[in-house]
Amino acid sequence: MERNKIILGIFALTLSAYGMSFKEGTYAGEAKGYRGDIKVEVKVSSDKIEEIRILENGDTPILSDSAIKRVAENVLKYQSTRVDGVAGATGTSKAAQMAIRNALKSSGVDAKELNRKVKTEEVRTLMKKELKENVVVIGAGGAGLVSAIEAKLNGAEKVVVLEKMAFAGGNTLISGGEYAAPNNWIQKKQGIKDSPDTFYNDILKGGDNEGNPKLIRVLADNALKDAEWLKDFIGMEFEDRQLFFGGHSVERSLVPKDATGVEMIKKLLAKADELGIEIYYETPATELIMKNDRIVGVKAKSSTTDYTFLADKGVIIASGGFGSNVEMRIKYNKDVDENILSTNTVGITGDGIVMAEKVGAKLEDMEFIQTYPTCDPISGALLYFGDVRLAGGSILVNQEGKRFVEELERRDVISMAIKEQTGSVAYQFCDEAQVELSGVAKHHAKEVEYLFNNKLLVKADTIEEAANFFGIDSKELENTVKKYNEYAKNGKDLEFNKRGKLTPFEMQGPFYIMKAVPAVHHTMGGIKIDEKARVIDTNGNVIKGLYGAGEVTGDIHGTNRLGSDAIADITVFGRIAGKNVMSEN
Ligand code: ADP
Repeated sequence: MERNKIILGIFALTLSAYGMSFKEGTYAGEAKGYRGDIKVEVKVSSDKIEEIRILENGDTPILSDSAIKRVAENVLKYQSTRVDGVAGATGTSKAAQMAIRNALKSSGVDAKELNRKVKTEEVRTLMKKELKENVVVIGAGGAGLVSAIEAKLNGAEKVVVLEKMAFAGGNTLISGGEYAAPNNWIQKKQGIKDSPDTFYNDILKGGDNEGNPKLIRVLADNALKDAEWLKDFIGMEFEDRQLFFGGHSVERSLVPKDATGVEMIKKLLAKADELGIEIYYETPATELIMKNDRIVGVKAKSSTTDYTFLADKGVIIASGGFGSNVEMRIKYNKDVDENILSTNTVGITGDGIVMAEKVGAKLEDMEFIQTYPTCDPISGALLYFGDVRLAGGSILVNQEGKRFVEELERRDVISMAIKEQTGSVAYQFCDEAQVELSGVAKHHAKEVEYLFNNKLLVKADTIEEAANFFGIDSKELENTVKKYNEYAKNGKDLEFNKRGKLTPFEMQGPFYIMKAVPAVHHTMGGIKIDEKARVIDTNGNVIKGLYGAGEVTGDIHGTNRLGSDAIADITVFGRIAGKNVMSEN
């Protein structure tokens, strides 16, 4: 913030230098963002763009806020509308430029001239800085923020978080944010019987018994307590409902307010701020510093500075998985190549895993890479309209109009089944009542609009009309729906044994069909840790001063992570890492 202010003062460019002038005033402009409209107001004097106000932003909060703010700052700084935005939010950055350009166009100025390329300053020699901290956390996603907060609460005076991107949140931010917690408050209200043991067994079985029982035990036993911590101490709000994620034996997944990870990251950021935790954005960690068999700090680089962060208590790696790193994916599992899109944000490239490996950390389960079954065939983004399925209210069919898998099966099983269908696509069919019940139209209205605009979702009065939109065999789909309704009436799915309550579809429209494909979602492998979140080396010894939490770690979920277990995992092990970095020394 401060840095930008200074820069704005130095670069008081005016347009008269380009022989241009404005009609003084304030002009409004808008453009379509990645998921919603972006509206701005631009104030100009006769020879300068003076001020840009962001009136509306329909894209993912936090991530898109940083992009629009950056574009606006750069437009003011360079007095041009062709400026850099933020990596990882390219769609929003472009839309912000367009909205500003549209506003300026209505001032009567030559929009082409304003769109000229500007020369950005290059920093040739980086400043060198050495900073002394107690705890350094790598990554400002869910696990990183939780662990930083916990370290602070456990007595660390100076805690810093290094974040590679211009925004916090990582994959946590763009996830649904659901949290699996056995014996939770909604289950109690609904009379659902559950226990940590049942959860433990589900995690173990859901990962084909490949997960580490000791780590799973820690996760299962602490999940509820830490969900309560998020609710009561962090102030995270949850909806008054649950979802039934594939592979769980009971419905136990809490849904955050507005059904995305934004609520969690927003509240964690507020708490981190309140506690005085500093976050260095666009400052990727590059190397762990080891001295006498102990990790004593981290090297990191921003666009202006070469940092050495010394950490007398320890370093926590929370830099997420490697879903966005195609090369690394292929290195460990050649089936997950460039032909498969990813739900991940662009910063999720396995940096922490590579850094830890260099100091001797053992890696586990690197070949286990999960695809999420119902993603955007254009971008790979996870589609929240798919939550109708998790609320039990939809079926998946193929081009031939037939079901081909249990809709509440594990993600890997559904994904593999989709891969084998015609065109390797799935179609999610449901009716209006189920859309209502799942809340997706309300919570994810922008996504629904995007899906309609991109012909990935259809709403029609008859099954035939909906099926024809995608060239699905409509007669067969009608038969499939009739059969499913029979199963629902008799309380048993005779084809796929779908778990949970079966609700029949209404026999009159409107009906919805969404087209979707699997995309890389979670990398189960990563750094080996013990129950205290300490990083373990290839000889089985603890690497002193080094802790790991979240998707960067391996060995917890085995071959396959069940839906909503990641948020529990990052919270539980984030807290453990934050506590132990302070007590283990
Ligand atoms: P988790 O779910 O384990 O918390 P997330 O994906 O939510 O993981 O967050 C990981 C965060 O780490 C992201 O914000 C990502 O941009 C950040 N990150 C990745 N690599 C680095 C790095 N080299 N230095 C700093 N931050 C990093």
